[in-house]
Amino acid sequence: LNRRLAEFGTTIFAEMSALALRTGSINLGQGFPDTDGPEEIREAAVRALRDGRGNQYPPGPGVPELRAAVTAHQLRRYGLTFDPDTEVLVTAGATEAIAAALLGLLEPGDEVVALEPYYDSYAACIAMAGGRRVPVTLRPHEGRFRLDLDELRGAVTDRTRLLLINTPHNPTGTVLTRAELTAIAELAVERDLLVVTDEVYEHLVFDDAEHLPLATFPGMRDRTVTIGSAGKTFSFTGWKVGWVTAAPALVSAVRSAKQYLTYVASGPFQYAVAEALALPDSYFDAFRADMRAKRDVLAAGLTDAGFEVFRTAGTYFITTDIRPLGETDGFAFCRALPERAGVVAIPNAVFYDHREAGAPFVRFAFCKRADVLEEAAKRLKSLS
Ligand code: PMP
Ligand code: GLN
Repeated sequence: LNRRLAEFGTTIFAEMSALALRTGSINLGQGFPDTDGPEEIREAAVRALRDGRGNQYPPGPGVPELRAAVTAHQLRRYGLTFDPDTEVLVTAGATEAIAAALLGLLEPGDEVVALEPYYDSYAACIAMAGGRRVPVTLRPHEGRFRLDLDELRGAVTDRTRLLLINTPHNPTGTVLTRAELTAIAELAVERDLLVVTDEVYEHLVFDDAEHLPLATFPGMRDRTVTIGSAGKTFSFTGWKVGWVTAAPALVSAVRSAKQYLTYVASGPFQYAVAEALALPDSYFDAFRADMRAKRDVLAAGLTDAGFEVFRTAGTYFITTDIRPLGETDGFAFCRALPERAGVVAIPNAVFYDHREAGAPFVRFAFCKRADVLEEAAKRLKSLS
């Protein structure tokens, strides 16, 4: 393994899902739903397969039906206008979009300011692109992980090329506020930075939280690469259909890298996702309401079991603090948890450069059936 990747080892998701299988534990680690997405969309995939749509290489930018559906969705939800021919790129999930964006936009030595904790592929992809990551730590404040705007400003140097943002935020469940996003946008404009924004949980926001795409802020449309994914919004994480929307020059740069990573992917599924994006608002509303109810079940169970529970405004994850249980090391806690309680969770420290800042935090996924969450809560209660 080369020096760029040596520090990363095996992803925590593979390690923890294997541990769940080996110990027969309830897997609240890796974030994937235990219920597949809509029947009619599965049927759409079957139809595409049967009718011979997408069984051979689809076009490099993605099938026209999906590119059109992505632009229609951005317009309908956010009032953003994109040209499906030059401003949309279909990718093999958001994971490839992140990789291709960083590989296509960074020069070796460029600095990338990223919110910490960060989704694990960010660090590895910045490294593969020869960039340097500069983490800005989100810190708990009144029940929510908050961005310190002075720290963000202080992290930008003459070598900063881009800001890598994620909202709704995995793993903390924070949704960046209008004030935070305004400050990010002002900083990007003032310092002439690109922004790559991972908005894969755009439809999973709860209560009075609102997802505000960075591309809608003043001066941002043409300097922002926005990333979406069908995995999260439609509960088809195995299909690996994601997309990028951005100005033509940025899409072109991302595509330059993407064409040598996978070239194309997920042919028939692209047609099905095009239909999914056109589902009526009632689908998105019901999905959100269902996930909010699951969040409440798990949050109540975790609170009852003695964890400090941070409020999840978005995503399908709950971050907890294990110190009220008399624990301080999330890694050790998560490695022992399957034996102690038959549950798997993720130590947030893996998402930090400043590992000590993440040490007491542990993430649980709630994209599971209510009976599974209730059983997990019962098992966790045995800890205290
Ligand atoms: N970004 C974030 C923040 C995620 O949580 C995930 C999936 N867990 C991804 C990207 C990857 O998405 P995909 O499965 O579409 O590659
Ligand atoms: N995004 C999912 C999570 O954060 C897992 C994705 C993966 O396994 N790479 O749990």
